[in-house]
Amino acid sequence: MPTLGHHLRRRIADDGPLTVADYMADALAHPRLGYYMGRDPFGRDGDFITAPEISQMFGELIGLWCAVQWRAMGEPAPVNLVELGPGRGTLMADVLRAGRGVDDFLESISLSLVEISPALKGLQEETLLAAGDVRGTQSLRWISDFSEVPDGPILVLANEFLDALPVHQFQMTPSGWRERLVGIGGGGDGEGFQFTLSETLPGEGMIPSGLEDAEDPVIKDGAIIEVRPVASALIRDLAGHLNSHPGCALFIDYGHGQTASGDTLQAVRGHHYQDPLVDPGTADLSAHVDFGALGQAASDAGARVLGPVSQGSFLNTLGIATRAEALAAAAPAHKPDIDSQLRRLTSDEGMGRLFKVMALTSPGMAPPPGFE
Ligand code: SAH
Repeated sequence: MPTLGHHLRRRIADDGPLTVADYMADALAHPRLGYYMGRDPFGRDGDFITAPEISQMFGELIGLWCAVQWRAMGEPAPVNLVELGPGRGTLMADVLRAGRGVDDFLESISLSLVEISPALKGLQEETLLAAGDVRGTQSLRWISDFSEVPDGPILVLANEFLDALPVHQFQMTPSGWRERLVGIGGGGDGEGFQFTLSETLPGEGMIPSGLEDAEDPVIKDGAIIEVRPVASALIRDLAGHLNSHPGCALFIDYGHGQTASGDTLQAVRGHHYQDPLVDPGTADLSAHVDFGALGQAASDAGARVLGPVSQGSFLNTLGIATRAEALAAAAPAHKPDIDSQLRRLTSDEGMGRLFKVMALTSPGMAPPPGFE
């Protein structure tokens, strides 16, 4: 059976080295062989674990955040609740369960899940229908792109979605920027993938303005920068929606608040870092999210941008410690587990500092909880 590695080797033999973005897009989302397409990558037996899989507290607080924002928007019905890359459906199940106590909220929701993986769509359907909080299956749909979300008021959630979108990498050389590419190595076993550089300059508009030449002190010879046009396009699309309809969006991911140089492409398999160029399609590939660039794209397109703040600060402001106490009081035997989940989600050594939360709202809306 051909692997994704065979497919990529053939592409490179036919068309020459691939951009890092093309390599990443195929590694994750090739329709038959991509990493996400046929498997459940999450949890202890999988490759990595995400915040909603660590504890229900994460999704519950975000569910209350959504309900508060829905109230602030004037309780519109229907409201599009959209999740980008819902994984196993755990975050959405916790969001909806937390919304049970808010009058008319669940009944008002029209749910759109943006997902490319048939395997994960199946898991999401199982999780959400079993929980029984989707009021009428006609209000649950899967779409493959944000642009398919119906017009109208909107609440958008995305946890660890942006980091999976393909990045282009550019490297500064004595003759200016060159795009980093993935080709086939000549040495060693002769078969491995290896990084090379394009011979020509990057296309018009690919290098962020202000970084075009090496005058910038950050950009030394050899420096690598990453750009994610697919994410910028999504953010512009969403900002357009927020300009015509009331709404807000929450992006949670690991990354940096200000554009910085550095190669952050990483592969994770079985909870360990791997070489991103070995056995593509069998490990999760991701790269840090540049919240600085995305916030700029959103505000240029007319949305209100809040944060990014650290995940620790966001969850603490929303009252995660109180929620943890309530859960521990209800199940004292689980207190040590609950405390350790709380630390993992909020501490600097855990996800508290590296993970960031950014909100976008329609212009003129008051700052949402967690960003006041
Ligand atoms: N939000 C979940 C899963 C994060 S993993 C959690 O926190 O547990 C990334 C998710 O995005 C997966 O569901 C994956 O299949 C989906 N995904 C990746 N690239 C995508 C794309 N281009 N379009 C839609 N979904 C994508």
